[in-house]
Amino acid sequence: MAGERKAARTKRGERQLIESILQRVGARAAAARTLAVGIGDDCAVVRPRQGEELVVTTDMSLENVHFRRDWHPPESVGHRCLTRGLSDLAAMGARPEAAFLSLAVPAELTGRWLERFLDGLFALADRVGVPLAGGDTADSHGLVLADIVLLGSVPKGRALLRSGAQAGDIVYVTGTLGGAAAELAALRRDPGAFRRRGAAPHPHLYPEPRLEVGKRLLKRGFATAAIDLSDGLSTDLAHICERSHLAAVIDTESVPIAAGATLDQALHGGEDYELLFTARPGVMIPAKIAGTPVCPIGKMIKRAPRPSSQALVRVLSPEGRQTPLAPKGWEHFRPRRQSGSGSR
Ligand SMILES: [Mg+2]
Repeated sequence: MAGERKAARTKRGERQLIESILQRVGARAAAARTLAVGIGDDCAVVRPRQGEELVVTTDMSLENVHFRRDWHPPESVGHRCLTRGLSDLAAMGARPEAAFLSLAVPAELTGRWLERFLDGLFALADRVGVPLAGGDTADSHGLVLADIVLLGSVPKGRALLRSGAQAGDIVYVTGTLGGAAAELAALRRDPGAFRRRGAAPHPHLYPEPRLEVGKRLLKRGFATAAIDLSDGLSTDLAHICERSHLAAVIDTESVPIAAGATLDQALHGGEDYELLFTARPGVMIPAKIAGTPVCPIGKMIKRAPRPSSQALVRVLSPEGRQTPLAPKGWEHFRPRRQSGSGSR
């Protein structure tokens, strides 16, 4: 009985839950210029600026698929949930305008767990200036599902697409790769070590969406195509190849590997949320954009008339040999190499 009473104290009804979210949103939404009506009405009203258009992305964060409650602090779950949407906006060169969050949680998590989830989400939302403009809540009677929709704006017709690369373009990445996969491997070995956020960078628990880089790429007309590295370099570069009807060769010696990560993690790990983009060979790309290192790793080439997906991306060995790099990054519904309790 005592246990039940304690549980009741930590559970909140939907009205209380929405009220506490509304309190947190407060003046944040009022400050957003494109949001004519924010959270609290039947719909949000969004008013794009003249000469701009909206880009929209949606991402699910599902317990035991994208995170585990025993591995990830709630703040990290909130942060990563928002990062996934923001990183897609960054890849389009968009400025974030509004976020919508639909949240299904079991009743016993509507107290402290949820507050900490929102702490993580709002800390990042405030930093990048995106208001929460609406959403929904439900009792999941089981696992946690956080579904986020992000709205961004770009100058009309100028969004960075996956399809714009041309043969001869140089392939660039921001930051370093493999750090998220290395931290996830460390979490798997010792979940307790990451319960509290330390001072060290946490590329898996708290990845940084490259919004400023994306906006700068668009503004300065640097990029012919772009994508964010959510699934892994081998998989995401293949997406640019597919959409641009090209192939690519990357020089593994040039791939910037994160401290503590392996080349395999850098090539296939995913969830680094860095940007991968292509630029014309004559365009001078600075070594840093918006304070983030940018590194050339290969080039786009013409492809055979009917290439298999396995052969779209090739790697150049130090001896000058080219070998296919199969897309071994993340793909839902594909049989896993190791079964069980993975986190994505
Ligand atoms: Mg993406």
